[in-house]
Amino acid sequence: MKVKAVIVWCLAIILLIVGGIFLKVNYQELKEIQTDINKIENRMADAEKEKRWENADSAAVDNNEAENMKENNVQGSGSQEQIPVKEKKIALDPGHQSENVDMSEMEPMGPGSSEMKAKASTGTVGNTTGKREYELNLEIALKLREELQTRGYEVIMTREDNDIAISNKERAELAAQECADIFVRIHANSSEDSEVQGAMTMVPSEENPYVGALSAESSRLGRCIIDSYCEATGMLNKGVQYYDNMTGINWSQIPVTIIEMGFMSNEEDDTNMADADYQISMVQGIADGIDEYFGNVSE
Ligand SMILES: [Zn+2]
Repeated sequence: MKVKAVIVWCLAIILLIVGGIFLKVNYQELKEIQTDINKIENRMADAEKEKRWENADSAAVDNNEAENMKENNVQGSGSQEQIPVKEKKIALDPGHQSENVDMSEMEPMGPGSSEMKAKASTGTVGNTTGKREYELNLEIALKLREELQTRGYEVIMTREDNDIAISNKERAELAAQECADIFVRIHANSSEDSEVQGAMTMVPSEENPYVGALSAESSRLGRCIIDSYCEATGMLNKGVQYYDNMTGINWSQIPVTIIEMGFMSNEEDDTNMADADYQISMVQGIADGIDEYFGNVSE
């Protein structure tokens, strides 16, 4: 009995060992097969990618050839490579909004600033026309959008009606999110002295702790716009002025300017800016300035 039991036990142990070795070998083999499959899959994916790139390259070459052929037909000159001009995108910000929208909550004046300012204000009112600044700003911005679109620009608006609640910080952030090239903010001015009149652009100074690096390009933008605007309208040119306390400027990530189109507290400016014909020259002037900034000046 004892001998039998020992033999049975030995057999059982041998079976277990052999079985274990068999399973291990199989498991390793399976693993190797899996690795091989993965390698093949990767190689196929790479080949697919390469093929796609080749197709894209040849399509690009085709396009260049087509462009060159066009060029040759027009100018009859050599085969210069065409560099496609990126369509410029303008963010327009019609200042303020209706007094029905509560924007009294506070927001930081610039990134990391402890100084808080109201999210937005309602702006001024024409002392002769009684027109609200937020209405005038939107009116001009909508006409300007149309003009810029006809000139081939892409335009995005921070607001398209008077009842939207968007803060000055959010306006600047929207312009950057939309990958606009420049941020043009449309406003009208006011003074306690009703004799004061004229237009100006506002830009950040080089000392601005948030957007000092944008000062030079913003100044150039502000200069182009104010000069063209005053030339087109005959408005008194008060030049480019530096302001570092404007939330919508301080949060900008792209060249930015505010155009103060005229004084609503001055009878002449106020009446002019509300006039439909005068508005055409206002819009033309701003658009000419933007053209000049981008070097799109027609001879
Ligand atoms: Zn304003």
